[in-house]
Amino acid sequence: MRRFFSSALALSLVLSLTACFGPPVDPDTVQESIQVIAMDTPMVISTYGRRSTGAAYASEDLIRDLEARLSRTEEDSAVSRLNRGETVEPDEDLNTLLRLAACFRERTGGAFNIGIAPLVSAWGFTTDHNQVPDRSEIDRLLKVVDETAPQISPEGVSLEPGQSIDLGGIAKGYAADKLADLFREYEIPRAMAQLGGNVLAWGDRPDGSPWRVGVQDPARPGEQNAFAGILNLKNAFAVTSGGYQRYFEQDGKRYHHIIDPATGYPAESGLTSVTVVADCVSDDGMGTLCDAFSTALFIMGEEKALDFWREWQGVSPSLFDLVLITGDGRVVVTQGLAESFTLDEGSGYTLEIVS
Ligand code: AMP
Ligand code: MG
Repeated sequence: MRRFFSSALALSLVLSLTACFGPPVDPDTVQESIQVIAMDTPMVISTYGRRSTGAAYASEDLIRDLEARLSRTEEDSAVSRLNRGETVEPDEDLNTLLRLAACFRERTGGAFNIGIAPLVSAWGFTTDHNQVPDRSEIDRLLKVVDETAPQISPEGVSLEPGQSIDLGGIAKGYAADKLADLFREYEIPRAMAQLGGNVLAWGDRPDGSPWRVGVQDPARPGEQNAFAGILNLKNAFAVTSGGYQRYFEQDGKRYHHIIDPATGYPAESGLTSVTVVADCVSDDGMGTLCDAFSTALFIMGEEKALDFWREWQGVSPSLFDLVLITGDGRVVVTQGLAESFTLDEGSGYTLEIVS
């Protein structure tokens, strides 16, 4: 009996000591998680490691700073001044984005075009007053959009009267690229950053398994955890564009925010969402590329999007991969994601792997 008491005493001593000092903590599993509403989007950033708290709050500062300079709804931003007709001396971020946007416009045959701003405004997507514009207004603005090309001179960058730019199709991807740089600087071993449809799955999960990134079922937009499937990803960007993300209804018809620069109307390509996935470690700028391409490929439609992917496979194999969801109930996944994508069996979609 005495022995029982002495071992019970020893055990309780050990337990109380562990309670005081805690078991040894693996610094890589220390976690911070913050929620931010910025760029008109609810965001969640979870960081791990010794410097997780510093990195999480620095991430918020970074995103807010980019928004203040790049948003066209922030009156004092460089983009707003440019859109008001001023000549603006671009900082490094704006300079990079303008250069990349011009490059993506060319590469996507004009589907991605930041000059789309006047049309996005005419449809009311920068305000709460959505409306279907007159056909004549759309025709007039199509010309403006087509001619928009920011002019760069020694004095700065400028636009012609009536022209304006909208970085909404690329800014969150750019922010995700900057977050990857920040995580590297803070030596963050793993993190999950969800900037709306732009996901950065940094490293792996604390148990060494891949991050699980749900691909929203576009047919059930408001529902949480209503996925068409799950992507299992380590060190990757996954960027989704879809008509379900922002839209309004008029006379029983739905109009969404991704405008086809060829028609001036919301794209009707037969796709309901496009997810572009790329490695976030081996090449720079892939978050921005995924963002621009997801917008553009949504406009292009299935056939052109797959041709586009195959062309890139010829130039730079495995640079990015795609998950396309079609209006007729298919999920089309390119070869590089065959092992990473799991269809949600209850979703009703059929899966096609293409090469
Ligand atoms: P995303 O969600 O990345 O596909 O971007 C959609 C946003 O990009 C819209 O809300 C607009 O601000 C902007 N946008 C719409 N159409 C286009 C387009 N054809 N090219 C570039 N940006 C666009
Ligand atoms: Mg985009």
